Amino acid sequence: EQLTKEDVLQMVEEMNVRFIRLQFTDIFGVLKNVAITPAELEKALDGELMFDGSSIHGFVRIEESDMYLRPDPSTFAIFPWRPMDGAVARLICDVYNPDGTPFAGCPRGVLKRVLAEAEAMGYTMYAGPEAEFFLFHTDGQKPTLVTHDQAGYFDLSPVDLGEDARRDMVLSLEAMGFEVEASHHEVAPGQHEIDFKYDNALATADKIATFKFVVRTIAQRHGLHATFMPKPVAGINGSGMHTHQSLFKEGQNAFYDPDDPLQLSKVAYYYIGGLMHHARALAAITNPTVNSYKRLVPGFEAPVYIAWSPRNRSPLIRVPAKRGASTRIELRNPDPSCNPYLALAVMLKAGLDGIKKQIQPPAPTERNIYEMTPAERRDLGIGSLPGDLKDALAELSRDEVIREALGDHIYQHFVEAKEKEWEQYRIQVHQWEIDHYLTLF
Ligand code: GLU
Ligand code: MG
Ligand code: MG
Repeated sequence: EQLTKEDVLQMVEEMNVRFIRLQFTDIFGVLKNVAITPAELEKALDGELMFDGSSIHGFVRIEESDMYLRPDPSTFAIFPWRPMDGAVARLICDVYNPDGTPFAGCPRGVLKRVLAEAEAMGYTMYAGPEAEFFLFHTDGQKPTLVTHDQAGYFDLSPVDLGEDARRDMVLSLEAMGFEVEASHHEVAPGQHEIDFKYDNALATADKIATFKFVVRTIAQRHGLHATFMPKPVAGINGSGMHTHQSLFKEGQNAFYDPDDPLQLSKVAYYYIGGLMHHARALAAITNPTVNSYKRLVPGFEAPVYIAWSPRNRSPLIRVPAKRGASTRIELRNPDPSCNPYLALAVMLKAGLDGIKKQIQPPAPTERNIYEMTPAERRDLGIGSLPGDLKDALAELSRDEVIREALGDHIYQHFVEAKEKEWEQYRIQVHQWEIDHYLTLF
């Protein structure tokens, strides 16, 4: 339901909320907070609260640092793990310039802009993520890579030390208005997944940002460290954030067509075509870290090749069996290190481009692509995702459609920071090199 300013003021009063955190994310999806007291809330809700944007990565320069936060009343939520007496609440905000225009460096604003483009074509986007994460022990201060957990996929506890933490995460999320649909142990030791119900894309992006924050907070309270790093341990599965997506038009699922052999509409095919066409550039946003590309390798249930299938799970895009109102496509390369606002914005942009340009996807791939020879893949025209971050950034720089979705400000700041990140990584000497070369030469 949509809450108004008055609703928020009333709830703060009634529930004796003493602290309100105004939240927004930087371009890397890192959640930022400005804490205010109830006395300042009305002013904040009127969008009159100024903050200094110059300290936020990818925001602005010192000389133009005044920014305004506009809280979205419908994002009001109480932190259930904090005391209820003198409660702590949060509101997610849009960032505005002093002249009242939306700030170009606000990722939530980027998503809103692409959503408006979809709206103008008659479409509403719905999305549901499957975010995976690891729970590790700490050495008292720093997180380690140690997990005593020997449980496998869907195993029941008692061996699972993370079980209690995960239960608490689910309860906290529910208290904050999430509808948790499933939560289970994942394939790797110490790896978990919590799935919540799909929602419109903006609400889902807000929920992903909140989700990561809640999971990490609750893990900490159990003496564990939760990480959304895509591939913390080589040789076992990494953590993905498969993203289910659908478009609705006039209240109907626009991906469903009962008369098609696969019961998919033209719009669904074009959306898949658009995602595949832009897949290599999209990766820079959906898989934005050096580490992201250590996950996108064969053998660990993560996608490598650009293909789609209505049945098997190995390709980049899968169409889950559900039809009717639940018809959707699942993009499998995103990982939880992405900025959820930017990731949803570029995925939608790619799909809309597919619809506008009527991009037909290639024939679906029924065989396991990993068992094909390189020659077979070549003959079938099956390309692969970028091999590393540098490769992905180069693809992004060549893709005008995806760049347009981000806007100049975010594109420039993002690429500049990511090129630096790549360069820092590139000049390191890694343990693998020591192991292989130190005695050989
Ligand atoms: N952990 C796998 C990945 O990296 C996904 C496993 C699954 O299918 O849920 O994408
Ligand atoms: Mg999973
Ligand atoms: Mg999945």
